[in-house]
Amino acid sequence: MSDRLSGIFGKLRGKGKLTDADIDATAREIRLALLEADVALPVVKAFIHTLKERARGAVVSEALNPAQQVIKIVHEELIGVLGGEGRRLQFAKNPPTVIMLAGLQGAGKTTLAGKLARWLKGQGHQPLLVAADLQRPNAVNQLQVLGQRAGVEVYAPSGGNGEGDPIQVARDSIEHAKRQARDIVIVDTAGRLGIDEEMMAQAAGIRDAVDPDEVIFVIDAMVGQDAVRTAEAFRDGVGITGVVLSKLDGDARGGAALSVRQVTGQPILFASTGEKLEDFDVFHPDRMASRILGMGDVLTLIEQAEAAFDEDQKEKMTAKLLGGEQFTLEDFLDQLVAVRRMGPIANVLSMMPGMGQMKDQLSELDDKHFDRVTAIIRSMTPAERTNPKILNGSRRARIANGAGVQVMDVNQLLNRFADAQKMMKQMGGMMGLPGGGNRRK
Ligand code: GDP
Ligand code: MG
Repeated sequence: MSDRLSGIFGKLRGKGKLTDADIDATAREIRLALLEADVALPVVKAFIHTLKERARGAVVSEALNPAQQVIKIVHEELIGVLGGEGRRLQFAKNPPTVIMLAGLQGAGKTTLAGKLARWLKGQGHQPLLVAADLQRPNAVNQLQVLGQRAGVEVYAPSGGNGEGDPIQVARDSIEHAKRQARDIVIVDTAGRLGIDEEMMAQAAGIRDAVDPDEVIFVIDAMVGQDAVRTAEAFRDGVGITGVVLSKLDGDARGGAALSVRQVTGQPILFASTGEKLEDFDVFHPDRMASRILGMGDVLTLIEQAEAAFDEDQKEKMTAKLLGGEQFTLEDFLDQLVAVRRMGPIANVLSMMPGMGQMKDQLSELDDKHFDRVTAIIRSMTPAERTNPKILNGSRRARIANGAGVQVMDVNQLLNRFADAQKMMKQMGGMMGLPGGGNRRK
């Protein structure tokens, strides 16, 4: 998807302003891109409709070129659909607050129960975990292990695994919680691989027994198109007050987030991002929007870039990048200094399009490293900066000496520079830089 969008924005770059034809063509492409990301068709249609209206009515910005304006509108709309500012858990006026988890088998309910318990305990609550999944052998045991890790009591039927009536267990657990002065009860329930009436009836029975303040629908972010059907079934079968997306550590594009949000009308509360208890975070609509678009936090990058690059540099750089002119070490040095002004380097780079996938490599790029690179380039003569080909062994040794590094570091920089040259070319083609020839007057 990100490739496709890069293509769209590449096409838009260079036009003076958005025409109706531009908007229609772009909308068509974005429609396809969203479908590819497994967003359900009705959701895509509604989204495109809003997008077109906004793009047509948009006040043409002085600072952004047309491509950047479209990025901004698409991004803002996605954040809006995904829930804007987001929402916190609802707590009961009279404790205990009861949180019931529902979803298909394997969605990540039991894991989430442990995560929630740990997280809430960390905030000073006294949660109780309830094992009301008596369907699957070992389900109770799984919750007990998680409870132990979280340091939270688990209420389970005395008969052990696979025995007892889950509705009765759930009902009794509330009394137990009151006796033990627990202020939050997290009820784990059984799921089936597919939606079936028996499962839904049991979930509804548990709901009636515990009268939950939140019914959280847990869904595997990888499910794609099926998300709509599953969400509808749980919406109608038990009623949902909130959503948690699980397995966001995988390579799901996030289309499910958009679909579930639209179908249930309920907020996405948390994101589950791994098997460990701490792999868990409140849901950030803005990050999910970026993920669906696959382009990192482009808007922030645009804003910071505008602040950090002065006009002259922008003009010079744009001309170079767009004109396909050779990008030299001298330019690289200018860029390093400008980029350094934007903040910690890994943050800046991770916001660039396509760089999200390169987190591991980025973490190596600490600020010290960048300062060292700057020192190396400063130790070169102007001729060497313009034409690194002349950098033979003795020149490299002299530079290393001057910068206080090893020759190996100089060699490494020159290799990285060759990569950067490539990257700058791609980025120039992809988003253009503000203030270039395509700038609005
Ligand atoms: P349940 O059937 O809904 O209770 O699902 P479980 O909590 O038992 O999770 C099913 C499997 O998915 C287990 O192997 C979990 O370790 C794994 N799992 C759950 N949440 C996540 C997650 O956010 N990321 C990853 N990678 N695995 C997860
Ligand atoms: Mg389970």
